[in-house]
Amino acid sequence: MQILDGKQTSLDIQQEIAQEVQVLVDEGKKKPHLAAILVGNNGASETYVGAKVKACERVGFDSTLLRFDESITEDELVAEVNKINNDTNIDGLIVQLPLPSHINEMTITETILPSKDVDGFHPQNIGKMALNLPTFLPATPAGIVELIKRYNIDTEGKHCVVVGRSHIVGSPMSILMARNSYPGNCTVTLTHSRTTNLKELCLTADILIVALGRAEFITADMVKDGACVIDVGISRVKSDKTKSGWKLKGDVNYDEVAPKCDFITPVPGGVGPMTIAMLLKNTLYAVKGFN
Ligand code: NDP
Repeated sequence: MQILDGKQTSLDIQQEIAQEVQVLVDEGKKKPHLAAILVGNNGASETYVGAKVKACERVGFDSTLLRFDESITEDELVAEVNKINNDTNIDGLIVQLPLPSHINEMTITETILPSKDVDGFHPQNIGKMALNLPTFLPATPAGIVELIKRYNIDTEGKHCVVVGRSHIVGSPMSILMARNSYPGNCTVTLTHSRTTNLKELCLTADILIVALGRAEFITADMVKDGACVIDVGISRVKSDKTKSGWKLKGDVNYDEVAPKCDFITPVPGGVGPMTIAMLLKNTLYAVKGFN
């Protein structure tokens, strides 16, 4: 069994990006600049945005964090996004989700200029991804693809089962694994809460990608021997063994599933750090293009 070390791989990628930034600077060009919008005081969102801003600093990007009160209206937020769209000094923009319920997330996503949409959530970029055209890939699926690539995991002709069909993880993941290129060429089954035979399907998976948000949902009796298991889930569960009183758990019961696998991602230290690395990579693409 080999652990797919997302933490180390993410650091490797960040080092590669830092070198590319240095080349830009040496050529007298500007550093990539990522702007992040955070609305309200959601603790998890604060943590995610904080980690993204810190990662920008590590690789030598400029970053701007714009905070708005929970009470900001949709029109006001659209105006703020448009300001960044028109700011030639800013290359990439992310709006941390979720937004307060009075703001339509799709309206905001569609307002972001596709060429600055480094989260890869704009319908235009999702469409390009589906057509296998060069574009920003959503960061979490892109991170999984990169991890599979860097560990040389064989995907051609394999059965890939994806659990969860969200717009940001499961659905794009299923598209990417079915593409006619590496890593891809899988036969893909996309499952969700209405799937009636989930256990049977999971048992046929050579590659099992799990993104449903329920701690330790996937148990050993759902996994085939020799599978590659990618755990996207992050849930906080109570723990009397940590100072904080809680612990991060994935969607996979790691202790019982890992011994059956050829490859598995841990939580934390698997997909999470890869997501940040790919956001940085997308911001670099916003500056340099996709070649
Ligand atoms: P969503 O809540 O948007 O989607 C969950 C999906 O799981 C839905 O499609 C839902 O089905 C499906 N689902 C729910 N229950 C079941 C079930 N019993 N059987 C099969 N499918 C089920 O979640 P996200 O995709 O946004 O996130 C999933 C997890 O990944 C979360 O823990 C999240 O925190 C984590 N995450 C981690 C990231 C990282 O960087 N590591 C990034 C993004 C997310 P239906 O559509 O029918 O409702």
